Amino acid sequence: METAKEFKKNIPRTLCEEITGQVPGKEFTLKGWVMRYRDHGGLVFIDLRDYSGVMQIVFDENIKGESFKTAKKLKNEYVVSVTGTVRNRPGGTENPHLKTGNIEILANAVQILNTCETLPFQIEEETEVNEFTRLKYRYLDLRGKRLKDNLIFRSKFTYLIREFLNNRGFFDIETPFLTKSTPEGSRDFLVPSRLNHGHFFALPQSPQLFKQILMVSGFERYYQIVRCFRDEDLRADRQPEFTQLDMEMSFVEMQDIISVTEELFTGIFEKLLNIKIDLPFRVLDYEEAFDKYGSDKPDTRFELIITCLSDIFTNSSLNLFKNVISTGGTIKAICFPNGSNLLSRKDIDDLLAVVKDFGGKGLAWTKVGENNSLDGGISKFVNDGEKASLIKRLAAKNGDIIFYQADTKKTANTVLGRLRLYLAKKYNLIPENRFDLLWVVNFPLFEYSDEEKKIVSVHHPFTSPAKNDLAILETDPLSVKSDSYDLVLNGEEIGGGSVRIHNHALQEKIFKILSISPDDVRLKFGFLLDALSFGAPPHGGIAFGIDRILMLLRNENSIRDVIAFPKTQKAYCPLSDAPSPVKDAQLKELGIRLYDTADKNIK
Ligand code: ASP
Repeated sequence: METAKEFKKNIPRTLCEEITGQVPGKEFTLKGWVMRYRDHGGLVFIDLRDYSGVMQIVFDENIKGESFKTAKKLKNEYVVSVTGTVRNRPGGTENPHLKTGNIEILANAVQILNTCETLPFQIEEETEVNEFTRLKYRYLDLRGKRLKDNLIFRSKFTYLIREFLNNRGFFDIETPFLTKSTPEGSRDFLVPSRLNHGHFFALPQSPQLFKQILMVSGFERYYQIVRCFRDEDLRADRQPEFTQLDMEMSFVEMQDIISVTEELFTGIFEKLLNIKIDLPFRVLDYEEAFDKYGSDKPDTRFELIITCLSDIFTNSSLNLFKNVISTGGTIKAICFPNGSNLLSRKDIDDLLAVVKDFGGKGLAWTKVGENNSLDGGISKFVNDGEKASLIKRLAAKNGDIIFYQADTKKTANTVLGRLRLYLAKKYNLIPENRFDLLWVVNFPLFEYSDEEKKIVSVHHPFTSPAKNDLAILETDPLSVKSDSYDLVLNGEEIGGGSVRIHNHALQEKIFKILSISPDDVRLKFGFLLDALSFGAPPHGGIAFGIDRILMLLRNENSIRDVIAFPKTQKAYCPLSDAPSPVKDAQLKELGIRLYDTADKNIK
């Protein structure tokens, strides 16, 4: 090993990617990990990795000193400090995939700062290592470029948010984690209280109630990049704890919140991705989103728009169509351009099972042939008049395939909505590197929950009803629209918010419609109701799912790839082995006794 004297401590450390374009012959000290090691006898090469990038280092046996001997001892992921001079790589050995691919460092000193055991998997390699192992050794996976770049991007992203909002007069205010249940519609994580046996805190599903109370306190513009906790069954894009950008403003209307958000996002897209997004964002009515895209978070990067054909088929010779229309249902369709060339007959038949999986009863189809003719599927049941009208309405061309749904409006929309996404993904209709941001507005205030057998809020109970619908609030609650808005990016809901109810009496009325008993209201939301009665200003806000946004911007498939220490689908952390059993004494302190139902095998 190099002696301390030999090692040139006086040279400050330089990052790999700082050295690009430097004059050959200049001396630098680099510190990092041995990413790749190649021993060519009289020459040893390593790729040294630090957080900025990679640099090729060459050790030559002809260079005096101990460095060559030490280089022979290096292994993958040893931590080293290397001093040497820059030189251009010999012609033909450049690596165009690396920023530093034209140069290398000829080492004259090296110090091993730490060694490394045999790795459970090779860093940087997208091998078939299961995710459990990757999460158990998360620090190794994070050492690789992809995840590291994701987290560095995340840091820049949140920095830009803070910079923008601080410049706009927003205050960053923290709200409690040990608190009371908030009605975001999920199960709460509970924390037992040692000092008050039998009492529990709930971890916040969002800071909703506190941010509204901050408006009552007169802060006027609040934001927080904050962890939220929801005890849900996990899917690919869910985690039990996740991060929101949470905002609230006083004396504002919907348009003010929309404008500030648009500025925030266009700025970030421009600064981080060099992408210019046109302002204002497109705004879609909730009903229109369902009618055209079968979803309240439409992916508008491709067409395949759902079109209503009910009026064309009122007298259809196809009994199914006629019956569905006469019983109040609808006939809707999507026209898949060039489908005849892309889908074989078997592909079309296979779609039936797909559609059934989406909740459809069947899948009628026709191909469009030359001179506006229809072939195959249900075409023999379509008369000339119907044919001409539907081809015109769908702007269908030779080679297209039309897929129909005859069902209730809700089912037809939902099934075709899912089918359009399925076809677009399978047949690559979605343009890459495109970001479609749009607002969905005019959501209903309430919906009927078949599960709970009662009216529930579509967003949350503090959402203001649309002014024009106040008169029918009690007589026809399910027709009332709300002053709320969701922001959608490429078919994913990335944020949502609303103008809030700031009137105590109206808030109580909403709780009544939601069949929440006065006792429950007091117990759960008494403190908010009290606050609303002490001079609450008109206010509104929004919250964005930071993890999901980053997943989309980084083109990842899972939010786990943009979170430093995520949990598995079973809400388990293999790195720290959490959650884990606790000692009886700890439970006793909390006044808790367990049923013996614990699943010993949560991993
Ligand atoms: N608290 C809401 C949520 O987490 C967002 C909002 O209304 O501001 O979904």
